[in-house]
Order: sequence, then C-alpha cells, then structure tokens
Amino acid sequence: MRVVCATHNSGKLREFAGALGEQGVTLVAQDSLGIGPACEDGLTFVENALLKARHAAAISGLPALADDSGLEVDALGGRPGIHSARFAGDGADDSRNREALLAALADTPEDRRQARFYCVLVFLRHAHDPRPLIAEGIWEGRILMSAQGDGGFGYDPLFYVPTHRCSAAVLDPEEKRRISHRGQALRALTRAFERHV
Ligand code: IMP
Repeated sequence: MRVVCATHNSGKLREFAGALGEQGVTLVAQDSLGIGPACEDGLTFVENALLKARHAAAISGLPALADDSGLEVDALGGRPGIHSARFAGDGADDSRNREALLAALADTPEDRRQARFYCVLVFLRHAHDPRPLIAEGIWEGRILMSAQGDGGFGYDPLFYVPTHRCSAAVLDPEEKRRISHRGQALRALTRAFERHV
C-alpha cells in the first residue's frame, strides 16, 4: 500500500518507513508529490495531525500518515505545547527556543521542572475517513538548568531523562528512537495497523 507521509523531516520519514515497511506500507513524502504544508490551526496536537493527514490525503488521493509533537512543561501550564517549534516567536530556531524556555523557567527550582514530550500519529485511509487510526506516545522527564550534550534536535539538550540519567541529547540515537514519545507512538500505530487496516 502506498501512503503519503505529511512530514518534511527526512529522519522521521525513514523512521516511519522502517516501522511500517513490515506492514506492507510504502511511504511517499508529500514533498515528492509537490504537496505544500497544511494550515495547522488546530488547538491540540491531534487536531493538527488530522489537518496535516487530511490535507495530504485530499491532494494525493492516497491514504495518509501525519504526526504532531511537542513539549509540555508543568510549571508553564503545559506550554510550549503545540507552539513548541516557535516558542521564541515565528521563525525562531531550536537554539532561540531553548533560550526562551530557560528564561521562562529561570525562577523555577529543580523539583518543579517536570515536563514531557508528546507525540501523536494519525493514519487516514482517505481524506474523508470517519475512523482515523490515532496513536500516541508520552515521554516523561524534566527541564535542566542548562543544556547538556549536542546530539538530537529541538529541546533535547534541556530534556533530562531520569531512566538514563542524562539529557535526550546525550542518548544514543537508536536508544532515543526506542524509548521516545515518537518511538512509543510508532509502535502503538503499528499495532493498530495490524488490527484495523
Ligand atoms: P514537530 O512535530 O516535528 O513539528 O515538532 C514540534 C517541535 O517540538 C519541534 O520543533 C521541537 O521543538 C519539539 N520536539 C518534538 N519532538 C522532539 C524531540 O524528540 N526532541 C526535541 N524536541 C522535540
């Protein structure tokens, strides 16, 4: 089955293709079909993932897979949440977003810096599919006082992983894929796929 994937990130595409390949799925990047980005004006991760998947399915005529993810910090009432990619403003890069996060938590002590990464994956059989497959993953941790490590991307250097006693930017990439929010969501989606598609 050919499935259009609504991500511009080639790393994610490879990861999704690796997991779903065993289900007989061939993923096609939406970019390669000339499909531009969807308008992500939902208020929740799942709404935005649905908007992206529906957009890709409607234009391509293919089943579609989309993801949405971000960081929730308890001391900030769940922010940056769906705005994780632009916490420091439109067009902000990862490093400015990390600076903004550290500044927002400047007065928050270590024992009140709980946070989690969240990922949702949505699969639509077609643009009007009334019963999308939805899978999620949650990765608990806390926000460090300063960056640690230079691997990964986004907020990884600030995200302390208690089970491994280091930041997500220090983890071996294979290990991060195994335990992260995205890894968990992908395994849940693969199971749902086996049952329902
Ligand atoms: P997106 O779902 O790829 O658009 O991710 C939204 C934003 O959430 C990214 O720009 C990152 O700031 C943050 N984010 C999502 N997943 C991760 C992760 O695994 N590590 C670090 N940051 C992440």
